[in-house]
Amino acid sequence: MVGIRRETPRVKTFVLQPPMWMPHLPGQHYDVRLTAPDGYRAQRSYSIASSPLDEGRVELTIDRLADGEVSPYFHDVLVEGDQVEVRGPFASYFVWRGEAPALLIGGGSGVVPLMAMLRHRRRADPGTPMRLIYSVRHADDVIYAGELDSDAELTFTQGAPDGWSGHTGRIDAALIAAAGVASGTAFICGSNAFVETAAGLLLDAGFAPQQIRTERFGPTG
Ligand SMILES: Cc1cc2nc3c(=O)[nH]c(=O)nc-3n(C[C@H](O)[C@H](O)[C@H](O)COP(=O)(O)OP(=O)(O)OC[C@H]3O[C@@H](n4cnc5c(N)ncnc54)[C@H](O)[C@@H]3O)c2cc1C
Repeated sequence: MVGIRRETPRVKTFVLQPPMWMPHLPGQHYDVRLTAPDGYRAQRSYSIASSPLDEGRVELTIDRLADGEVSPYFHDVLVEGDQVEVRGPFASYFVWRGEAPALLIGGGSGVVPLMAMLRHRRRADPGTPMRLIYSVRHADDVIYAGELDSDAELTFTQGAPDGWSGHTGRIDAALIAAAGVASGTAFICGSNAFVETAAGLLLDAGFAPQQIRTERFGPTG
């Protein structure tokens, strides 16, 4: 672990330098394994947040779940210089290979693999049409706040910042229409419920099932 950055009160980014670094595709993940002194093991998957152009490095962005096993260990125990056992990158169909246009829809920490896509597209092919719709609960839940530009549309479901004149409430048909990506490939990531809702809205908006790729992070979210 060569760096730790705080993103929000609940979320930190961990910068790793794997000895056997391999370039990944935006959307892929690593598996992290923790082993206790008594041999007990816990393994979890974490999406890669960084672009593969960051050679030799991988960034993981982890939301701290208060009653979790692995995420609090990252937040509360690990410090710079510590070693962590990771494997990856792992393939999945949730990868962006330059498909355009691309519509990215993220809820909470579901924005992490989408940020890898956005970051990579900004550096490798800025002309490629790509838009992010990002749903968060409160004003202080926005991960990567300093990097969200005109290619990203935020909505606050439970408490917008003072003076916010943008979208509030859950993702809906109007927000999807406002993104202006009526065709192409859509990537949705978040909790089960979030993914189901967003996929339903895309089908209603005329997307075919094979144009929609999804990744589910956990039971709630
Ligand atoms: C492919 C993939 C990529 C992922 N990428 C990321 C990522 O980039 N960043 C990230 O923070 N997480 C990511 N996750 C979720 C991550 O793998 C863990 O599930 C999460 O960190 C919880 O682990 P834990 O050990 O802290 O909690 P656990 O001990 O597993 O669970 C504690 C409690 O939280 C509930 N819970 C489990 N997972 C979630 C969740 N995601 N949201 C809300 N409640 C949950 C459990 O039901 C349980 O009640 C990803 C999951 C997958 C499958």
